Amino acid sequence: MENNKKEKHIFQSETKEILKLMIHSLYSNKEIFIRELISNASDAIDKMKFKFLSPKNSNIPYRNMLIKIYIDKKENKITISDNGIGMTKKEIIKNLGTIAHSGTKKFLQSLDNKTINDNALIGKFGVGFYSSFIVSNKVIVKTRYYKEINENNGIMWESEGKGEYFITNINKPEYGTDIEIYLKKEENIFLENWKIRDIIKKYSDHIDVPIEIQEYDSTKNIFHWKKINKAKSLWTIKKSEIKKEEYKKFYTYITQDNNPPLTWIHNQIEGTQQYTSLLYIPSKSNWNIWDRENEKKGLKLYIKKTYIMDNANQFLPNYLRFVKGIIDTNNLPLNISREMLQENHVTKVLKKSLTKKVLTLIKKLSINHVKKYKIFWKEFGLILKEGLSEDISNKNKIADLLRFTSIQCSSQEETLSLEQYINNMHKKQNKIYYITADNYESGNTSPHLEIFRKKNINVLILHNKIDEWMMNHLTEFQNKQFQSINKSDNELEKIFHKPSNADTIENNMKAFLQKVQNTLQNKVQSVKLSYRLIDTPVVLLLDKNSMSTQMSKLFMAAGQNIPETKYILEINPNHDLIKKIVTIQEEEKIKTWINILFDQALLSERGSLDNPNEFIQNINKFLLIK
Ligand code: ADP
Ligand code: MG
Repeated sequence: MENNKKEKHIFQSETKEILKLMIHSLYSNKEIFIRELISNASDAIDKMKFKFLSPKNSNIPYRNMLIKIYIDKKENKITISDNGIGMTKKEIIKNLGTIAHSGTKKFLQSLDNKTINDNALIGKFGVGFYSSFIVSNKVIVKTRYYKEINENNGIMWESEGKGEYFITNINKPEYGTDIEIYLKKEENIFLENWKIRDIIKKYSDHIDVPIEIQEYDSTKNIFHWKKINKAKSLWTIKKSEIKKEEYKKFYTYITQDNNPPLTWIHNQIEGTQQYTSLLYIPSKSNWNIWDRENEKKGLKLYIKKTYIMDNANQFLPNYLRFVKGIIDTNNLPLNISREMLQENHVTKVLKKSLTKKVLTLIKKLSINHVKKYKIFWKEFGLILKEGLSEDISNKNKIADLLRFTSIQCSSQEETLSLEQYINNMHKKQNKIYYITADNYESGNTSPHLEIFRKKNINVLILHNKIDEWMMNHLTEFQNKQFQSINKSDNELEKIFHKPSNADTIENNMKAFLQKVQNTLQNKVQSVKLSYRLIDTPVVLLLDKNSMSTQMSKLFMAAGQNIPETKYILEINPNHDLIKKIVTIQEEEKIKTWINILFDQALLSERGSLDNPNEFIQNINKFLLIK
């Protein structure tokens, strides 16, 4: 590029769309542009501080790092200036001309107008910078990358936010970035000193970088600089001196989430492991929480009050990835890399201790704030379940936090804890019963449940995809075994004892059972009489070592070859249909009946048949009989 020549660029098309959407939807909360620009400036300074840690950069002049705000009433302009890391030309094109966060557009399109109005979303797009266009006709960015020793290696970026932007080479005496906002006429409120101070108090008081504003002293007719924020990191202040509101504001500041957090815990630990942690549980999950690569901004790591990195996920297990906050330790070297962090002993000790703290915090929430816990469970329950396999040492604590729905709950909402379940068990009951199904409805209406309802024994209904897999890792709680009611089980036989005339019934049915076995051959493992059914003629069970129906479905959906499941067919001798079939004489007819019954049971158990046409033909045969 020739010096001083303007170079025209076009915004990436998604950026254009997002710009338009944002200007429209955030109009009612314009002031946040200050928060966003200050947050960027403070990030840039944090990065610069980090660069100074390396001896490689000893040739770079150190400057007192701060953010400055100039107001120019004549030009209708407000400038936010930092001496942070700056940007190269390449970076400025990438950072301000495109949307880096993948999935942003898809996410935007999935939103309706109502939700886009929620300004909490703005930070999550990673489009904070663009908020400056809400109040302005034109934005100019002047920047120089810290490594560019030469003064004339500065870059100017300017745009009216319409579709194109221009880049010019400029002279810039110091590294860092100035953002100049040319305000629209009607937005001149942002030229008022008090207004800016108000906004900064509201959003950015606890940024640890000083923010100064230029003030005019009319008596002396001079300008001077005045610091307008506390510039003290919140977590370093004594707990007793921090107000609830301040904790909430700080949360919004680090997460850019405007929904208040559900709860938080602030620890200042002295002793061999010196560290401070401030951990929050949000009230809403991030839209990309399932997208592990894009799930950013979990914990911020500070070492001796110096910012080191965002997304320090080495300090918490994956299943607690919804936790936000900061950790500040004195026990790690400042020049530690991400890779070294993973292997470091201190990291491991801290991870263990933070995990314990978070689990205790969640437990407390469950006891003291039932309503908030419902929100927590809805937002993060599925993620927490991952912990049962990820964190064996805390398995019991995690199990204690689980919530379920059951046949005795009035709805699908999961509110029942395992402890409550155990406290209400039948006196002969020693196991925790559950049923797994594709969805709540099919679980709740399963014929397996008839007798449990009659005997007033509770059964958990597990209907999430992850549940079947979860049950492989959750085998007992407080010494009570989990038992799938789709599988045969001795305890059940004891509770649902046989009727007094069972012997007679069994004698009468012997020949019929044999016939069923002969007809179905190796489609079934065995054929038995059942006393647990009421309104259903037949049901399929699995023996206790077989893979469950839901699990085989998951494997098959994943394209795996698994051995064919052999069920036990249980027949209800008291059902009218069975009583009728037993009396039928013609061999062919009885065979058709048996096949229909088996297919019915299969449909109810797994929702599909190997040969649906045969089933339909068999049914039609009977429909035709007058
Ligand atoms: P986010 O801060 O979420 O990444 P923004 O739209 O606020 O999204 O900023 C986009 C990017 O532009 C930042 O990530 C950063 O790389 C760059 N940037 C913005 N402001 C500055 C600044 N003052 N100094 C250096 N880089 C900046
Ligand atoms: Mg930003």
